[in-house]
Amino acid sequence: MTNSWALRAPCHGIGAFAPNEDAWSTQADLLRMCQGLLGTCGPCPFRAECIATIKPVQAMFDGIAGGRLWCNGVVIAALEDVSDAELAEPKLRASCGTEAGARDHNRHGERACAACRQVARQVTARRKEEKARQPGQLALDIAV
Ligand code: SF4
Ligand SMILES: [Zn+2]
Repeated sequence: MTNSWALRAPCHGIGAFAPNEDAWSTQADLLRMCQGLLGTCGPCPFRAECIATIKPVQAMFDGIAGGRLWCNGVVIAALEDVSDAELAEPKLRASCGTEAGARDHNRHGERACAACRQVARQVTARRKEEKARQPGQLALDIAV
């Protein structure tokens, strides 16, 4: 990263944010090597710039960018306070507007599109309803 903000980023000068491919082979290796460094992104004000520059999804990036640990362009760990607003606009897919589409955005570490966000809200509401019905169902089962 040679942008001027990168020179002011907390990770400036730390080399282990994108480990050499020869140094690891599994997702577990990557987690072991990088998870401890994620906290460096905590106070970083440049997460969005970082993600926009590295383009982790398109680049199938392995390493830390924007408060997230990526493996093959997919988020495998993240700081608790990461926000979707830090991610680039979502890619639209044929699956958008379905549960699979919502899952696809999630898997690619990107912000869900409006249609997928709507589906995700409906799924959450349905699950809540189902959960709320369960105790009654249980009582009925026991009574029978
Ligand atoms: S978000 Fe993390 S990896 Fe990106 S510039 Fe900031 S400290 Fe570095
Ligand atoms: Zn979508």
